[in-house]
Amino acid sequence: MSESLFTPIAYLKGIGPQKAELLKKELQIETYWDLLNHFPFRYINRSQIHQCAQLHLVDGYVQLEGYIDQVQELGGGRSKRLQCRFTDDTASIQLIWFQGWKWIKPALMPGKKYRVFGKPRLNNNFWSIAHPEMAPTDESSSIGYQPIYPSTEKLSAKGLHTRGIEKVISGLLERISLENIPDRLPESIRREMQLIGIGTAYANIHQPHTEQGFTQAKKRFVFEELFMLQLEMILRKGVRKRTEKGFVFSKSGEILSNFYHNKLPFDLTEAQKRVIREIRKDFQTGQHMNRLLQGDVGSGKTLVALITMLIAQGNGFQSALLAPTEILSAQHYETIVSFLSDLPIRCALLTGSTKRSKRTPLLEALAKGEIDILIGTHALLEDEVVFKNLGLVVIDEQHRFGVAQRAKMRKKNTIAPHVLVMTATPIPRTLAMTFYGDLDVSVIDELPPGRKPIQTIHRFDTHRLQLFAFMREQIALGRQIYVVYPLIDDSETLDFKSLSDGFEAISRSFPLPEYQVSIVHGKLKPEVKEYEMKRFVDGITNIMVATTVIEVGVNVPNATVMVIESAQRFGLSQLHQLRGRVGRGGEKSYCILMTNYELSKEAKKRMETMVETTDGFKIAEVDLSLRGPGDILGTQQSGALNLKMADLSRDQHVVSIAREAALRIYEQDPSLTDPLHLTLRNYMLTLFKNKPQWDKIA
Ligand code: ADP
Ligand code: MG
Repeated sequence: MSESLFTPIAYLKGIGPQKAELLKKELQIETYWDLLNHFPFRYINRSQIHQCAQLHLVDGYVQLEGYIDQVQELGGGRSKRLQCRFTDDTASIQLIWFQGWKWIKPALMPGKKYRVFGKPRLNNNFWSIAHPEMAPTDESSSIGYQPIYPSTEKLSAKGLHTRGIEKVISGLLERISLENIPDRLPESIRREMQLIGIGTAYANIHQPHTEQGFTQAKKRFVFEELFMLQLEMILRKGVRKRTEKGFVFSKSGEILSNFYHNKLPFDLTEAQKRVIREIRKDFQTGQHMNRLLQGDVGSGKTLVALITMLIAQGNGFQSALLAPTEILSAQHYETIVSFLSDLPIRCALLTGSTKRSKRTPLLEALAKGEIDILIGTHALLEDEVVFKNLGLVVIDEQHRFGVAQRAKMRKKNTIAPHVLVMTATPIPRTLAMTFYGDLDVSVIDELPPGRKPIQTIHRFDTHRLQLFAFMREQIALGRQIYVVYPLIDDSETLDFKSLSDGFEAISRSFPLPEYQVSIVHGKLKPEVKEYEMKRFVDGITNIMVATTVIEVGVNVPNATVMVIESAQRFGLSQLHQLRGRVGRGGEKSYCILMTNYELSKEAKKRMETMVETTDGFKIAEVDLSLRGPGDILGTQQSGALNLKMADLSRDQHVVSIAREAALRIYEQDPSLTDPLHLTLRNYMLTLFKNKPQWDKIA
């Protein structure tokens, strides 16, 4: 007879109320269904019997068959151990136990044939296995692949270690019938992707007979997990589009047209044009726009932002442009004002340091609708900042703004203003699909023409004298230079030492009055930082010695050399961001990565990648494969996805395939009412019932 999958596990043989409670607490397993979905994280091949004489040929775990003798207790105190000799037809090895030997000893019977499993180690030319698993040959039932299940210390103490769990699950599989579980993946998709059915998949994930068995099962579950996630995103986006109203910007506006035809000093790149078309399309639908704009450093996002804001203006709306720092805000303000020159557009800059005497009239003008574009920092979020008719919010460098802050901007009008979030940290497409799958994503994947590529060079510390000579040459040509050290953090006095030592060395090699050197780091007061920064921006100083505080967005076109000290300590995306600070003018630029000789394999790969390519998206892909999504997006964010089978760095290609498949299903049947999608629909309902908004999908 087969039982309901919703039966509480307490009813299973060998579980009972106490263990059931513990399973719930430790692994959130409450029902048969939960247990069925508790998957092994790896398998051990037990079908193969190795030979004692061949251990040097095997990597990792082995399985041996033979006899024991010479059982001995050796040593004393902490090195007390139980040891015996194990012999097969080919040679002998030692089996050793450091703990639990009191109850192991009586079970060891010389002359009996055992199957032994464990990881051999070579010590003084002699092989041994510590704490082997062993069973008399006649009893050992699990030939084939043994699943290894996740467990916890508390569960193990109650006998629910991997073997215990394996037994319980095998009891479960006898009581339910896997063939009756309806498949939530539509057959069309299964066929197309060549995936096995759900019943076989469950059987093979828990009790595989062959490697192919669990490989196919894993393939199916990985795909399924990513597919469900993508479908959820797509459905959510659908809900948002249907329910969230947005302002309609249907006009183009005279000022925009004037700007476009008379003021724009160059042609837009094809990528810029495409993105603007995408945004325009959003504006005409009456739906709320929530768009992420990804574009490498220097790809011309500011101009896209400006044109977008001019569209808002042409339709009678105000815009806000938020940037993470005062310097960036000021730069945006200056850039935009100079782009617009004498066009009748009113721009204003508001930051934390805007004086009250200026702030009051500015806020009044804003509330009256006399300002079209307000640019600034977090200061724009304040309640006192009231717009007459805010229609668009552009956020530069999204990583610095949280969801709550974005929400605050959206509340500044009765209908939420459109949102355009710009980021220069390219996120691999697959990650973007997964994390921002419910946003619209636009990509500027082309740099404006005529940029000279930045030459990237990796040098070892011993070449510092040559480096200094090169820096002098560049300064003689009138250029400016960044020298960046790892971040200063209060706990890391070492960093501070390397920065101040570096500053000293540079001040000595580049002495006053011939050379001027700025220094900027996180321990400086904001005013001092701004002052030093400004001296460099204004071309007064030749060299800027800094920590990564300069990472984001500053624009000094005359800076042509970026020297990164201890480059091995930076992540790839950070290195790429730093490199983006140079190559902004017409001169050839250089990025020099300084490291010592002792580089880890990963650090070497990072340096090689930087030297090989300047393509931010390629770099992001390498970064993802080196670090995993948790490090790229923050563990909290990636943890929120709760992926069990899929690994976003390993399964990058599956993400795209799963998204396409999910899109196809959505396009055919957006509300999942087709009888063929019934199981899928129910499955998603249970999966996501606790998440908000799901109810609106129906
Ligand atoms: P980012 O995407 O890093 O914010 P910016 O918007 O600061 O890039 O643009 C970098 C530089 O490229 C600016 O000096 C800008 O004026 C220039 N630029 C932008 N678009 C074009 C274009 N289509 N052709 C030539 N130069 C452009
Ligand atoms: Mg920018």
